[in-house]
Amino acid sequence: MTRRLGSGSLVIATHNAGKLKEISALLEPHGVRCISASSLGLPEPAETGTTFVENALIKARAAAEGSGMAALADDSGISVDALGGRPGVYTADWAERQWFEGRPGRDWFMAMGKVEGLLQGMGKDVPRSCAFHCVLALAWPDGEYAVYEGRAPGSLTWPPRGTMGFGYDSVFVPEGSDRTFAELDPEEKHRISHRADAFAKLVSEQFGQ
Ligand code: IMP
Repeated sequence: MTRRLGSGSLVIATHNAGKLKEISALLEPHGVRCISASSLGLPEPAETGTTFVENALIKARAAAEGSGMAALADDSGISVDALGGRPGVYTADWAERQWFEGRPGRDWFMAMGKVEGLLQGMGKDVPRSCAFHCVLALAWPDGEYAVYEGRAPGSLTWPPRGTMGFGYDSVFVPEGSDRTFAELDPEEKHRISHRADAFAKLVSEQFGQ
């Protein structure tokens, strides 16, 4: 049986204030007090894994070992079937530029264009199916862990559409919809997203009856 968190403190292995806020809002109703890894001065480990599960576990374990408390980390990205699952764990890397808007940064239009260029180079009948993935990893300082995998299946469209969202949202059309993630209200997206799917599994196993 999977170990349960119970109420108490949980380190969130992120240095992103937006993610901390979103995760806290989901877990605090269950009596969990969320503390960010950055507020504890914990370093960010290198994400050297080749799968979402490996990278989420690297981050959760580093935070659990560094803090002596239970820790939660996530890893996410988009996998395109015709590209053998790429960009996958390298989703953010494909957007990395030495020089973007005056400094090193992420250029999402370039990243989406790279995926589209590869697909178009494979011919017009190439399948455009893909899925967003989100893996949540919980780790305890004694080495025990639990992993929850969420998925949002869909297909890629071109050119990008919509102004809401971030990353690859404007080229991703979720299954059953004709709008991209970037054309959906954030609330609508959050009902069907890969992150919602992973969190529903975590909450059900960790806090369910
Ligand atoms: P990480 O989980 O912070 O490693 O982020 C991986 C990358 O996947 C992000 O930088 C995003 O570009 C992309 N990604 C993850 N979730 C979403 C999403 O819901 N919409 C668009 N892009 C996403």
